[in-house]
Amino acid sequence: MTETTSPAAPELPGFVHLYSGKVRDLYAPLADDGTQREDELLLVASDRISAFDHVLEPPIRDKGAILTQLSLWWFAQLEDLLPNHVVSTDVPEAVAGRAVLVRRLEMLPVECVARAYLTGGGLKEYEADGTVSGVILPDGLVDGSRLPEPVFTPSTKAPAGEHDQPMPYADVEAAIGADLAARVRDLTVAILARGNEIAQQRGILLADTKVEFGLTPTGELVLADEVLTPDSSRFWPADRWEPGHSQPSFDKQFVRDWLSSGESGWDPRSDAPPPALPPHVVEQTRATYVEAYERLTGHAFRG
Ligand code: ATP
Ligand code: MG
Repeated sequence: MTETTSPAAPELPGFVHLYSGKVRDLYAPLADDGTQREDELLLVASDRISAFDHVLEPPIRDKGAILTQLSLWWFAQLEDLLPNHVVSTDVPEAVAGRAVLVRRLEMLPVECVARAYLTGGGLKEYEADGTVSGVILPDGLVDGSRLPEPVFTPSTKAPAGEHDQPMPYADVEAAIGADLAARVRDLTVAILARGNEIAQQRGILLADTKVEFGLTPTGELVLADEVLTPDSSRFWPADRWEPGHSQPSFDKQFVRDWLSSGESGWDPRSDAPPPALPPHVVEQTRATYVEAYERLTGHAFRG
């Protein structure tokens, strides 16, 4: 498997760079005595975009700010369901608008996915045996069908450079215990359901989403990472929803489609690095992220 590489994270006085994921750079704040604080993290969203577990070139201008602002907006909409990791948006000027100071959590080793509509990996599983994640579904569902109710379809958190795999619910219970497994399952489904109540009024369907949870040192379960963004979820325009084929979308499906198309000349299953995105794909992707943000929040994006 090809290792994903992350471009250098910015140097930020008062913070120590700890780690760069495909999209975000993580820092520890320094205490007055110069030691690293262990209770908080600075989470900086870059403009990097990833697809098929590769970081792509070039970056998408303003993407980090859009995802950060949209997550903050959603955290507020979900506040009554569970606590979130946000401490403050008072961050260094160099990363203003695209960074948040968060509670540093012990992350649960599960990618918590819920699906309200059938597509992608869920559709593949259904076509193979009529189930997703062990849940038996009615006959006759097609690409884009709405599920009778949202289904929890967790996946593993693969190490860098590897692909996440579907994770049977029993494995989630084995990894984090039955009580916690049931709580994250119910919360993941509740977050997607609440998200859809709100998004529907704004003409968007949230087909599926991935959330991450962590524990505080005292064992409190907290919503972390990003939430209900076009990086972590599939966003479909409600007025164009038509089950039976792949849906138009406000997320990075556009990028995945281009990469899989003959135009890119690249095979997502190959180990070769993907080609650079051409300018029209970059521009369209940026416009899509801006539109998702503006439709949902009702605020103009000033990038
Ligand atoms: P990878 O780390 O495998 O590259 P990724 O590409 O999803 O995964 P990013 O989204 O770029 O990673 O980086 C965010 C990282 O920060 C994730 O590993 C996520 O689990 C972690 N994270 C998010 N919120 C918190 C938090 N409050 N405390 C600790 N870690 C967090
Ligand atoms: Mg991530």
